[in-house]
Amino acid sequence: MKKEDLVVKYKGKDRFLLNGSLIEAQDCLENLEEIKNLHVKRFEIEERMKDKSSDMLALDKEWTENQFSLQDAWKFKRNKNFHRFWRIPSCKCPRMDNEDNYPYGRYAITSACGIHWPSFVEERKEENEDV
Ligand SMILES: [Zn+2]
Repeated sequence: MKKEDLVVKYKGKDRFLLNGSLIEAQDCLENLEEIKNLHVKRFEIEERMKDKSSDMLALDKEWTENQFSLQDAWKFKRNKNFHRFWRIPSCKCPRMDNEDNYPYGRYAITSACGIHWPSFVEERKEENEDV
C-alpha cells in the first residue's frame, strides 16, 4: 500500500490521511475507495453545517449515518460512542470533556451548539413519547 493511496483529497487538496496499519488490521483494503468517498461526503456535510441557515437536524442525521457507513466500510461494529461529533467545525459542545469520555459515551452537549442541541432536544422528545 503506497502512502498516496491513503490520502483523501477534497476540492483538489490533500485533506486527510487514512491509517494504513489499521486498514491491514481490519482487512478492509477492498473498501478503500468506499472509505475515501465516505470521507469526502463527510467533508461536504461538515461544510454545509457551517452555514447557519442549513437544516441542522437533517445534516446531523446525515453526518451520523455517514459515520455508521464508515464503521461498516472499516468492518467495525456500528457504535455511536465512537463518533467524535464535537470535532465538527462550528460545533460548540465541550471538546476536552468529550475527548476525556471517549469512547465511553455520555457526551456533553451544550444548548449553545446549533448542530447538536436541536437533535438532542428532538431525541429527548421522542423518548418521552415512547413512555
Ligand atoms: Zn455540538
